[in-house]
Amino acid sequence: MDRASLAAGDRLVAAGERVTRQRLQVANVLAAAGRQLTADQVYGSLRRQVPSIGRATVFRSLETLVDAGLARRLELDGHVYAYVACLPQHHHHLACTNCGRVEEIDEAYVRPIADRLERDMGFQVDDARLDFYGRCATCRTEESPAS
Ligand SMILES: [Zn+2]
Ligand SMILES: [Zn+2]
Repeated sequence: MDRASLAAGDRLVAAGERVTRQRLQVANVLAAAGRQLTADQVYGSLRRQVPSIGRATVFRSLETLVDAGLARRLELDGHVYAYVACLPQHHHHLACTNCGRVEEIDEAYVRPIADRLERDMGFQVDDARLDFYGRCATCRTEESPAS
């Protein structure tokens, strides 16, 4: 087993989930992609390596990875979901709706919002799930008219 699989296995165990070969394979596909993938894209890419894998298994494995914190679900236009591999630390995402690239941003960007909510509303934020959708720097450069 390679190091990425070992790390994924450890994280599944820590989350109280069973480690199966399929779950590790799905986790590896996501981690190697570095971008968001729909369940069908994960299935398509995995089927080339593991022809026997079932579509339902891939879908269930993705949900397990989300539950265990190894992946996050991002909503695309038209209520389609995409999945992205996630680091253990708490963080948020910048998801490019044009090229599909997903960057992770630190909690520090969101902390001021939580602090302000506590100050203004008396609400203590324990957990925040906040992702940002838009266009990445590369896509914006390509879009802007040459002047
Ligand atoms: Zn992430
Ligand atoms: Zn982009």
